[in-house]
Amino acid sequence: MSKKMVFSFKEGDGKNKHLLGGKGANLCEMTQIGLNVPPGFVISTEACLAYLDSDTDELPEGVMDEVHEQMKQVEQATGKGFGDAENPLLVSVRSGSAMSMPGMMDTILNLGLNARTLKGEIKQTGDERFGYDSYRRFIQLFGKVALGIADELFDEEFNKVKESAHVTEDVGLSADNLRDISERFLAVVEKATGRPFPEDPYEQLEIAVKAVFRSWMGKRAVDYRREFNITPDMANGTAVNVCTMVFGNRGDDSATGVAFTRNPATGENKLYGEYLVNAQGEDVVAGIRTPKPIDRLADEMPQMAKEIEELRQKLEAHYHEVQDFEFTIERGVLYCLQTRNGKMNAAAMVRTSVEMEKEGLISRDQALLRIAPDDLEQMLYPRIDPNVRVTPLAQGLPASPGAASGHVVFDADRAEAEAKKGRTVILMREETKPEDIHGFFASKGILTSRGGKTSHAAVVARGMGKPCVAGAEGISVDVQLREAFVGDTVIREGDLVTIDGTSGKVYLGAVPTVEADFSAELNILLGWADEVARLSVMANADTALDADRALKYGAKGIGLCRTERMFNTTDRLPVVIEMIMAETTEHRKHSLNKLLPMQRQDFQELFETMAPYPVTIRLLDPPIHEFLPSEQQLKDDLAYLQQLRDSVRGLEVLSGTMSLLQTENEEFFMPQMVESRQVEEAIIKKETMLKKVKALYETNPMLGHRGVRLGITFPEIYEMQIRAILEAAVECDKKGLEIHPKIKVPQVCTAQELLYVKEIVDRVSAELEEGLGHKLEFQFGTMIEVVRACMRADSLAKQANFFSFGTNDLTQATFSFSREDAENKFLPLYNERGILQNNPFDVLDEKGVGKLMELAVKWGRERRPDLLVGICGEHGGHPRSIHFCHRIGLDYVSCSAPRIPVARLAAAHAALME
Ligand code: ADP
Ligand code: MG
Ligand code: MG
Repeated sequence: MSKKMVFSFKEGDGKNKHLLGGKGANLCEMTQIGLNVPPGFVISTEACLAYLDSDTDELPEGVMDEVHEQMKQVEQATGKGFGDAENPLLVSVRSGSAMSMPGMMDTILNLGLNARTLKGEIKQTGDERFGYDSYRRFIQLFGKVALGIADELFDEEFNKVKESAHVTEDVGLSADNLRDISERFLAVVEKATGRPFPEDPYEQLEIAVKAVFRSWMGKRAVDYRREFNITPDMANGTAVNVCTMVFGNRGDDSATGVAFTRNPATGENKLYGEYLVNAQGEDVVAGIRTPKPIDRLADEMPQMAKEIEELRQKLEAHYHEVQDFEFTIERGVLYCLQTRNGKMNAAAMVRTSVEMEKEGLISRDQALLRIAPDDLEQMLYPRIDPNVRVTPLAQGLPASPGAASGHVVFDADRAEAEAKKGRTVILMREETKPEDIHGFFASKGILTSRGGKTSHAAVVARGMGKPCVAGAEGISVDVQLREAFVGDTVIREGDLVTIDGTSGKVYLGAVPTVEADFSAELNILLGWADEVARLSVMANADTALDADRALKYGAKGIGLCRTERMFNTTDRLPVVIEMIMAETTEHRKHSLNKLLPMQRQDFQELFETMAPYPVTIRLLDPPIHEFLPSEQQLKDDLAYLQQLRDSVRGLEVLSGTMSLLQTENEEFFMPQMVESRQVEEAIIKKETMLKKVKALYETNPMLGHRGVRLGITFPEIYEMQIRAILEAAVECDKKGLEIHPKIKVPQVCTAQELLYVKEIVDRVSAELEEGLGHKLEFQFGTMIEVVRACMRADSLAKQANFFSFGTNDLTQATFSFSREDAENKFLPLYNERGILQNNPFDVLDEKGVGKLMELAVKWGRERRPDLLVGICGEHGGHPRSIHFCHRIGLDYVSCSAPRIPVARLAAAHAALME
């Protein structure tokens, strides 16, 4: 007894997409809930795989018998006969796999027509033209899809008839013309295959089914699956759907169309779609005629409009999801031919989630779960101010979301040079190549005149989160002339343009942009997410500006503030350098005293912005030579100055040299009086600095003199920072603000290190509390980013109130990969060869790094049950890693501002999917 492989729409299990394919399962489901689907049946994916597996060209045993059985039922239901000369049954043969692969395999329409049934069809419809039109469409589709005959051979004959009949539009062809075309098409088939066109409908059907099955391994389908990473277990062969033909081209009471139950661009709760009167489905897709918006149907066919509205309600009530459906109206009767979940942009997903929940169509959990967290990020990019009326200059592909304005530059070097001068630039090129990468870093946005959404420019820009418009073909770029042309308009290097990577539009000039607004619906949705999530989401933020944004996106605190960012601003860097250059502790303290009030101010602003949420501040982490110029830079400067010394006699007027003679920031490039004495002094300064840089040189800075090791060798640096934090806390305390500062120490590997810093904290806080008269509220904790710290979690937890995983460093340390070398030299190959599934710097390595984390959490909490544990590396914003953090019981994740909504939703998903 062989397995059942063919299922009527009345019996197939609508939930089993694996067996019936998406289209087939939904045809079954719709039939069974009483929607008007033309009768038909599904041949399963199992039949497909068995056919592809066998060495013969035969369908699996019994399949055609089952098909005969099913066809009898369809004949009964329709009152027509397959191959019947009086009242013929015609069917469509349609493919459909578990994953939707749009347009991958062609559908054959009107199968069952032959010289005899055609006469019956004409008699039944009383429409000769319609009959021949259906016939010639069938012969061509069957010839192409089932027999593999090139379209051109048919088109050639078609055009010959059109020409000799002096007709320009297909609709102008008469019944006679179409008969002529049909006969020519039959001849084309006979010539190409060496055999006459198959007349027996069952033979036609068998050939068609095999062709659909074979198309599963065809180049188009295989390429598509590779491109979209569809693995065999996700899409396991294709099913074949055999469906009674209905005709939207039977006159003015017939039509065909496609619609969404809600607007997929905005989410608005209103039918959205298009239709064509007196047409077949393929006409809509082929774009031969322009369809009308669905709103118009209410005027043209009021009864049908009413029924489609009912269909819309029934579909949503059943699927609890926005549907994208195909319908056909044959002489006043509405049929539904296909439905599937609607694909929408993020804004529409969010709006429909909130509204469907309010309507009682879905639960809150479903409202959250139907949105992929990563998609939320596109809602957070700046866009063109909607209140400004502007006409675009050119249209390209929306390759990476967001809007940006800047001065046009035509190559990457120029982009870098201009950006260094502080200009905002848009890199405009015909297409980009890997060697342009520095230009991407320097630009606000990328514009190319060639290439698609997967071009180099598009992929790289998306990776960097920068706006990109690709393939704006109306623009021709002339790098030699340093100009670009759009029609009569000339864009010169330096001109301002605005690009909108969300819409693909390009504008001349700087069009005002607005920060993406956090829609009311998004706020509601994320509010629900916070209610179910166990992990809380904090931000990586270094400035009050960052903190503002993080708050707006719903961060519940700052999980990581990197103090070195504050050291790097132009007004502070000279003081920082002076501090590093100091020969004695006394001198260093002197410079640190200048930095103290600045840092205190920074922290106070952060605390005030975030109150009453916690703010976690990491003490200085990078090696201090990072703040000094590079060795090469200094050598170049010295060479220049020495040359200058040789040419300067006494007092001279010079230009362009002052930058090297000064330490403070003043206007450069002004003609100045220069004394040779000044040059001499400058040389000495540079030489000392060079000596320092050489002394500080490290073979491997990532593993060198950094983090807490600095705090121990230069305790005065950490003391200054600790003082700044606690003094800022005192200021806030005096204002009556509720704040929760947390001090964290980087790169710790032993409890002794932590203890050393803690003593400074205790000393400073005791001193300040004495003045204040009461205790200060703050916490002390450690980064866990070194393997040894994981192993010593128990003893570290004795000293620390909290742990914060730095998974970037921890990943480097666990693999012994230095990130840059790994990513540039061997990780891509590892990935290609399947040695590593993912780049562990992108996707947290749960088995290795994760295992260490798990142990650290366990041992830490055993020592200190209320130990707070979070993660602040890049991984903290990635949904998969967030699921993992949830599973191992972390308290929070911390990520950059644009990832906060993503992380909030992912945290909810983690809790719901547990
Ligand atoms: P695709 O997956 O490319 O949408 P379909 O199988 O849905 O392929 O069919 C292609 C076109 O043919 C669609 O417009 C569809 O509505 C139409 N079509 C398919 N089957 C029938 C049928 N039995 N009667 C009328 N039109 C049909
Ligand atoms: Mg379809
Ligand atoms: Mg680190």
